[in-house]
Amino acid sequence: MVPTIIRRGPSWFSSFGRDGNKGTKLYNVGGNVNNPCTVEEEMGVPMKYLIEKHGGGVKGGWDNLQAVIPGGVSVPMLTAEMCNDALMDFDGLRVYKSALGTGSMTVIDKSQDPIAVVARISSFFKHESCGQCTPCREGCMWMYNILQRFTVGNASPGEIDMLEEISRQIEGHTICALGDAAAWPVQVTQLSLAVSTRAALFAFGLPPPLLPLSLPLPSSFLSQDPLATRAQRYGCVSWQTDSLARAPRVHRA
Ligand code: SF4
Repeated sequence: MVPTIIRRGPSWFSSFGRDGNKGTKLYNVGGNVNNPCTVEEEMGVPMKYLIEKHGGGVKGGWDNLQAVIPGGVSVPMLTAEMCNDALMDFDGLRVYKSALGTGSMTVIDKSQDPIAVVARISSFFKHESCGQCTPCREGCMWMYNILQRFTVGNASPGEIDMLEEISRQIEGHTICALGDAAAWPVQVTQLSLAVSTRAALFAFGLPPPLLPLSLPLPSSFLSQDPLATRAQRYGCVSWQTDSLARAPRVHRA
């Protein structure tokens, strides 16, 4: 690309993209798509275009899309609804409190458990932590263990807030960026909502579901409980924390 830019000039290159997001970029389209690939496209290209045109579409069709991690596993995931309009550049993904990162997209269809996906991501960061910083060394392991418990249905409702708190204690408190990268995926509003709903269902003894990220919480779980600050902080609906605390805890093998 560099020889072409030198030959055609900077004005040609900056004719791609929009202000603050000029040029072209290599995008990777992977996960539950029919044609995983790496393509060079204009900055700001619609995410849906990349998936449909270059990735061969979501397996099972666009309606089977559950979420996309747009820029490598360390950035927050977008729900299917967000993916309809998301533009793949810095500003386009900032709108959804996510990031362009590497531009390496992981497409997640409705057959996947989003909590298990993030637990797997957390496993990677736990393994890669060199152990020099205490928040990263201990926190990555704690986050992974909690996510694993949510995956199998062996967590307690109080661990929803604990997971969020641990991630905040890692973020910005380490000497390299791996700590932040490990913390951000578990701070996702949509993931938090899924974890919250999962916890509620477990606490009420209901079977473990594959939860679409866009699934609304049942109205019986909602309240104005001031203790449920985590969901409110992120614009999620709240849930009945005191009911959860009283509810029988369900353990599954
Ligand atoms: S943040 Fe970086 S330096 Fe610190 S423990 Fe993690 S990997 Fe090591």
